[in-house]
Amino acid sequence: MICVAAENFDEWRKAARNLLAAGRAPEQVGWDGNGGLFAESDNTASTTASPAKVPADFVTLATRTACHRDPEKWALLYRALWRLSHGEPYLLKMATDPLIHRLRRMDGEIRRDAHKTKAFVRFRLLQENGENHYVAWHRPDHTVLPLVAGFFQRRFAVMRWSIVTPDQSLAWDGEALRWGPGLPASEVAHEDKFEDVWRTYYRATFNPARIKIKMMKQEMPVRHWATLPETHIIPDLLAEAETRVGKMIGAMEGDRETAENYFPSVPDYPSLRSAAAGCRACGLCGPATQTVFGEGNLDARIMLVGEQPGDEEDLRGRPFIGPAGQLLMELLQKTGLSREELYVTNAVKHFRFVQRGKKRIHQPPDACNVIACKPWLQTEIKLVRPKVIVALGATAGRALVHHGFTLKHDQHKDLFFDGIPVYATWHPSAALRATQPQPRADIEHHILETLKRAMGFR
Ligand code: SF4
Repeated sequence: MICVAAENFDEWRKAARNLLAAGRAPEQVGWDGNGGLFAESDNTASTTASPAKVPADFVTLATRTACHRDPEKWALLYRALWRLSHGEPYLLKMATDPLIHRLRRMDGEIRRDAHKTKAFVRFRLLQENGENHYVAWHRPDHTVLPLVAGFFQRRFAVMRWSIVTPDQSLAWDGEALRWGPGLPASEVAHEDKFEDVWRTYYRATFNPARIKIKMMKQEMPVRHWATLPETHIIPDLLAEAETRVGKMIGAMEGDRETAENYFPSVPDYPSLRSAAAGCRACGLCGPATQTVFGEGNLDARIMLVGEQPGDEEDLRGRPFIGPAGQLLMELLQKTGLSREELYVTNAVKHFRFVQRGKKRIHQPPDACNVIACKPWLQTEIKLVRPKVIVALGATAGRALVHHGFTLKHDQHKDLFFDGIPVYATWHPSAALRATQPQPRADIEHHILETLKRAMGFR
């Protein structure tokens, strides 16, 4: 066994070339990082070893994987190099090969870490001999600083800056990059006026209506929060979020046009229906084919409210006649309810979609569409006066119950719309989107049970 040391990609490449030239198979080489026989004779060998021919993709992969903290990385890379140069030139294309799978996974981790380093480095302004020096301390998961050096050099070419990590540091003086040792945060972290700039920026761009804590932690991992000035204000912003959402929605309701502006002078059902056909209160009427108003029994004791018409409903002008509607009818049949007994409608009366080639891909309506369209729904409910409303999906829940409605949090509460009980369940399209049989069965079961409960008001 030959023991070889490599501290970085260049050292590994040099050693790997020599080992390859000497015909050393991977199982004969130990990459234990302590140096050894081959490392000692390395200089002689390197002068005679001709570079192995490998795909450019491998060089890229190896350069990045070299930044991974996995101690086996050098051995893994050498095994791949050996196989590439011993009869397996297409090895990298074999995604299912365990070695390639592992290297690709490591590569993905490195790329994500490099991306986060670019996003989360925060410079503090220090004064050194009367000159500005911008210093950042950052703790990446891997030693990715070499991979992002060029990015920072180009981006902050006119600044004098240093980025310090626990493993290494990088400094730019306007002309050249210099590498140095790593330092702990305690020797670098320092508050300055830029802290306030970051906080102001973050406060201004923080959208309380789009808070997704899990996503936020994924994008801005908690381990980086200590070095990010803006994270100090996150608890306050979250505490204020509910109030700010309320204000935003209030402003939307107050400022924007709603369906009410299109109401007929005689508010009976036929007039309402034909007035809705000309509604232009929000932007959805433009691309859609037509208004899809509710339909059914005007004396119905049970009303079903969905999200919005789908592709087929938009073309034919009737709610719940597409694939989701067909599934709903199958479930209704199982309960013994018939469509003729019900009134069915949607929270939003126009189809929202994006065009991809010939296909129109469904897009959920925005809060402003739900708000603009709500007067139609309110009036339908007022005219039909059902004994119970079944809200199919979160959009229906938002239109009927409250703006922050989620099925997960609200389904077991006593919900009402204008004194009428609201039973909330999934939209049938959720069952159609489920890729596994069990989740689909669970969703169908939930819808079925909710319809059965609603039958108590029949
Ligand atoms: S979605 Fe509703 S509010 Fe918007 S234009 Fe259509 S009917 Fe009017």
